[in-house]
Amino acid sequence: MENPAQQAMKLFVQNFGTKADDLYQAPGRINIIGEHTDYNEGLVLPVAINFNTVIAVKHRDDYQFRAVSDAFPGEIQQWEFGHEGDIADDSQWYNYLKGITAAMALSGLHAKGLDLAIVGNVPLGTGLSSSAALEIAFGTAISYADQLHLSPLAIAQISQRAESHMTRQECGIMDQMISALAEPDHALLIDCLELDSEPVLLPENLSLIVIDLNIDRKSFMAQYQERKQSCYEITEILGLDSLRDLTQIQLHRAKQLLTDSQYRRALHVMTESQRTASAARALQENNLNRFSEIMHHSHCSLRDNFEVVTPEMDHVINAVHQFVGDKGGVKMSDGCIIALVDHELTDQVIELVEDSFHSLTGRDATIHLCSASGGAGRIT
Ligand code: ADP
Ligand code: MG
Repeated sequence: MENPAQQAMKLFVQNFGTKADDLYQAPGRINIIGEHTDYNEGLVLPVAINFNTVIAVKHRDDYQFRAVSDAFPGEIQQWEFGHEGDIADDSQWYNYLKGITAAMALSGLHAKGLDLAIVGNVPLGTGLSSSAALEIAFGTAISYADQLHLSPLAIAQISQRAESHMTRQECGIMDQMISALAEPDHALLIDCLELDSEPVLLPENLSLIVIDLNIDRKSFMAQYQERKQSCYEITEILGLDSLRDLTQIQLHRAKQLLTDSQYRRALHVMTESQRTASAARALQENNLNRFSEIMHHSHCSLRDNFEVVTPEMDHVINAVHQFVGDKGGVKMSDGCIIALVDHELTDQVIELVEDSFHSLTGRDATIHLCSASGGAGRIT
């Protein structure tokens, strides 16, 4: 079977009648821990996975961009750098690309056009961040092709602006940063306020299992936005710049200013950021026992305080947690489930997930055995 790079080259020739010059790629991601902390300017610990978006590119002498994607067969889409029109509130796939060139133009950058053929294997719209993979692959392609010499962080920031503009929702920086900056075999501890990041080597003996329960993504995202809004309201009530700054003493003192659910939302964000730092340390020290415990606390807080874990997810997570004990961690991540477990338990965990989810719902889970991959770049 052809890999995405070969497929992208083929798609390019089919659509543009000539060979592409270069190939670029960027990966999808899963977040180990740090749930709902990115837009609250706290810590997150994502890992890039071995699913990526590849773009075959040919340079143009004018300022036109033309793009096709195998995920959305149809006409070639075309726009001009700096003349993207109104891209907001329109869910067309190519608006992610137009958003990037618009954000670049707004930053005072100039770039000549490209013809683009896009092929990816990051599942779309399931919480593995195909949108950031697309944005970062494209941003990286322009940066190389036009010799803009943008840093991976700059490409991530441009992409974050593009996605926020397009979706009319201010999105966090996590997805774009991990796709741009990841290192193979490492997770990345990101400080979402300072935009500092530190690679965290994952213990060699752990398998990375990503479980997609095929949830109703639309209502999950609506709930996500509701929680985000709620966090901003709490931040305002407490007179803070972000919930990142919240201390235990402040939260205790302000308890009467908040409703019970607001108090629990704030408690989740505050403790989750602390757990993220501790989980990174536990992984660095290969302290699986501690890591397992922290992941379980995160799961309980997401379920009981932040109330974003469905009964089905809870069922599967608890089954895995009980089975692996202190030999791995499991929790929800952006609507999927991530399990980092001792290699020896891999097959049994996969079987357990399949059985426990099927017996509860009659449906099948989609399970990916992943590896921690490197970030975006040119494919040589
Ligand atoms: P997620 O990022 O979790 O996969 P999103 O809803 O944020 O979900 O992004 C999915 C959207 O990103 C798709 O509907 C499409 O518009 C765009 N997209 C992602 N990957 C591709 C691709 N390979 N080709 C075209 N569009 C893509
Ligand atoms: Mg996305």
